[in-house]
Amino acid sequence: MDLRTIPRIHLAAILTEPGTKSAEGVLSGSLGPEGRAIPLVGEAGWKVTVTQTGGEFWLSGEIHGTALMECRRCLKPTPVPVHAYFQHLLRYQPGVEGVKLVEEPEEDLYYFGEPELDLSGFLYQAFALEMPLTALCHPECAGLCPVCGADLNETDCGHAVETERNAPFLALEGLLKELG
Ligand SMILES: [Zn+2]
Ligand SMILES: [Zn+2]
Repeated sequence: MDLRTIPRIHLAAILTEPGTKSAEGVLSGSLGPEGRAIPLVGEAGWKVTVTQTGGEFWLSGEIHGTALMECRRCLKPTPVPVHAYFQHLLRYQPGVEGVKLVEEPEEDLYYFGEPELDLSGFLYQAFALEMPLTALCHPECAGLCPVCGADLNETDCGHAVETERNAPFLALEGLLKELG
């Protein structure tokens, strides 16, 4: 994610007075920190609302986009639509750098120290949690040949059939060798 597109919301107007602020935007390319970034197809849209009451900040929002995952059978890049919602409790504490998570027994609490709240962590977390563990390019994906690695959706290398047909004979051959 490049610096100019860091998703953020300006909360100066509601830091000391109750109120609501909203923001929305789009992300493209990838989502998340380098090394763990999720590749995106096209743009991912997000919107958030922050409501301050009694000094507590409720952040709620959503992000929807299309992640690019590897098909678990043939490894082909496979678009996976994701639509995630999130809600968090935040507290303002000047001096805190970035967004800091404090795990509490009842509800996790996030501290932020600047009126401009960086949303990238929240968006990434929600999106990543909503992604399936694995993907299939299509339900009947034939996968890769275990012998030569050919994509069986595109070519018929003949190995799958051959190994099946020959398996009993190969076993017999092995047995005969052992006896001989
Ligand atoms: Zn596949
Ligand atoms: Zn093969």
